[in-house]
Amino acid sequence: YEMSERIASSVRQLTEEQTKLLDAIGKLQELEQQQKQFIGNISHELKTPLTSILAYADLLEMYRDDPALLEQAGSRIRSDAERLYALVEKALQLSAMDVYELETYAESVRLLPLIEEAVNRLQAKAAAANVRIAARLTEGAAWADPDNLMHITLNLLDNAIKYNKPGGVVTISNRTETSDEGLPAAVIEVADTGIGIPPEAQSRIFDPFYTVSADRSRTAGGTGLGLALVRSLAEKQGGSVRLAESGANGSRFVLVLPAERPLHE
Ligand code: ADP
Repeated sequence: YEMSERIASSVRQLTEEQTKLLDAIGKLQELEQQQKQFIGNISHELKTPLTSILAYADLLEMYRDDPALLEQAGSRIRSDAERLYALVEKALQLSAMDVYELETYAESVRLLPLIEEAVNRLQAKAAAANVRIAARLTEGAAWADPDNLMHITLNLLDNAIKYNKPGGVVTISNRTETSDEGLPAAVIEVADTGIGIPPEAQSRIFDPFYTVSADRSRTAGGTGLGLALVRSLAEKQGGSVRLAESGANGSRFVLVLPAERPLHE
């Protein structure tokens, strides 16, 4: 009897191990699938501006004596090349982070000057879109890489301007809170009075290459990589970013980062 008990328990253990192994294989397959899709997407995204560049290069050759066309083709080639450049840069950043799990550097970053600088950098763009940026800032620190944090902040602000309405407002604010684990957390909120995100799209906006509608993003010059990068960077820093709400009156994004060096570091 004891013997059969022992065999039964061994079998149970084996089955458990097998389930774990199958789970791991499943996860690997899923990752591989994601990677294939990433490459497929990026190839497609790269082809579009490249095709346009090639077409304009042909035109340039055919009509080299037409100054108006030269100018138009030149500026199209430039804007397509800029789009390509931004895309490659973001894709490289994203894939380097996923693949190599780079160690993230972090220090205590004062939020008030950092956010003020981010706002200043986007002031001209906001003015051009007839959007006002309101900053409600308090002293406070985040434990993060200042470059990463600047990148995240610029990206959220940039979207809030890009997807706003003329005469709209972008409000950026920060505060220090206590997290569910009882640790001090730095919270940065970016709210806009823009066009909002449809409910069915809200869970997907952080996916690489996802754009709500190709139309509204392309005209705004988007690649669908911005928020994917923002989330990746935030998580690398031991934080998180989410869409807190979005509707006809605009959207609100919330970024949470550790406010101090975590104890285990
Ligand atoms: P993109 O480069 O297209 O802006 P993102 O990854 O930054 O890509 O954003 C993904 C999609 O989420 C965008 O296509 C856009 O439609 C939507 N989105 C992002 N931020 C906002 C916002 N503040 N208001 C409305 N829609 C937004």
